[in-house]
Amino acid sequence: MMKERILLVEDNKALSKLVKRKMEDNLDFDVIQSYSLEETNNILEENDDFFIALLDLNLPDAPNGEIVDLVLSYDIPSIVLTGTIDEHIREEMLTKGVIDYIYKGNMEDVNYIFSLIKRLSKNRDIKLMIVDDSQMIRKQIKEILQKHMFKVLVAAHGEEALNYLEENKDIELILTDYNMPVIDGLELTIQIRKKYNKQQLPIISLTGSNEHLISAKFLKSGANDFINKPFSNEELICRINNTLDAQEHIELLSRFANRDFLTGLYNRRYFFDHINDFLHNNSQYAIAMLDIDHFKNINDLYGHDVGDMVLKKLSMILTNNTKGSDIVARFGGEEFCIALANVDEKTAIGFFIKLKNIISKEKFIFKNNSINYTVSIGITANNKKENIEELIQEADKALYKAKDNGRNRIEIC
Ligand code: GH3
Ligand code: MG
Ligand code: MG
Repeated sequence: MMKERILLVEDNKALSKLVKRKMEDNLDFDVIQSYSLEETNNILEENDDFFIALLDLNLPDAPNGEIVDLVLSYDIPSIVLTGTIDEHIREEMLTKGVIDYIYKGNMEDVNYIFSLIKRLSKNRDIKLMIVDDSQMIRKQIKEILQKHMFKVLVAAHGEEALNYLEENKDIELILTDYNMPVIDGLELTIQIRKKYNKQQLPIISLTGSNEHLISAKFLKSGANDFINKPFSNEELICRINNTLDAQEHIELLSRFANRDFLTGLYNRRYFFDHINDFLHNNSQYAIAMLDIDHFKNINDLYGHDVGDMVLKKLSMILTNNTKGSDIVARFGGEEFCIALANVDEKTAIGFFIKLKNIISKEKFIFKNNSINYTVSIGITANNKKENIEELIQEADKALYKAKDNGRNRIEIC
């Protein structure tokens, strides 16, 4: 597939090279360089499919920002780069509809351009909801957010917002006004927090300048941040970006904490943190330990990296054959634990026989070698044991029996 393209119009070749390298090394974009208005014209006539354009206001054949009108006439979202901060020109450019106006002085500014593009690229998949009873404010905010490439939904009061939220589970952030008919912003925040925590669905409140106490109330009720009206477009965007960045960081951390690095499966810690809820929520279940047979041979014959690939492939098979309500975890090495939800003993045995057969038929191709492997599985499904340690001990005993009895088989305890 062709990579998306960024248009970079900048006559300073050293800077252009620096920006191009940083973008291409760290983001999945092709950067097309242009050094003048004329060259840009030719590029655009040929192909005007660009994700975004970075535009130098001062070019040899266009010293007064003429490049902006040209590129905007192709409807390409644009960011202006400038060597001089001039409030008047800045205002003029933002009015024309450019996304941002960036001073390019040093590496820090290049880093800002980079993080802005990364953010915009992610924003395309993020749906936000604006809740405000003023049509004018809804329209104003919607325009800014759309310019920053967000998908936007608008609601006129809290009740409408709650309905939209029911129908749009993919809303990722809510901006809400305070004073609204039917259900106000504070009540809306309280209602939402009964179902979603601050990490799951961030809320930013918009409060009037004479409502200082309300901002604190919002925060105490679970809003992530607040913005005082009137606000600048830039403050609005910065606050939204900060909130989303923080949320993404937390998500990444929790991924590191809960997932096995190699396979992406849940790790042992996650398993033990969640298994009691699992046992509590399912009147019937099966716990199984699964271990690759003679895995050491694969490492010895083909190398550790191939061993790693086999582990990843097997993890995918385990994920693809289980449901979201089951738990699949890598306990360590080539040993996995699977908790099957809502199954009786017979169904569980049938499931694991099928799984074992799928795995043994799977061929892993590496440099003309066709590698196959088998697994042994120990199951406990009688559900008489009360705690997870005992259940795992049972499954482990069954696994040893499967190994003793010749491998590539399942045993039940
Ligand atoms: P058995 O059928 O009795 O289970 O034999 P086995 O060879 O599978 O079991 P053993 O416990 O003797 O060896 C497991 C091997 O798995 C040894 C270890 O080096 C390898 N191993 C553990 N973790 C990893 C890993 O993350 N990547 C790779 N490539 N190998 C691993
Ligand atoms: Mg093994
Ligand atoms: Mg082992």
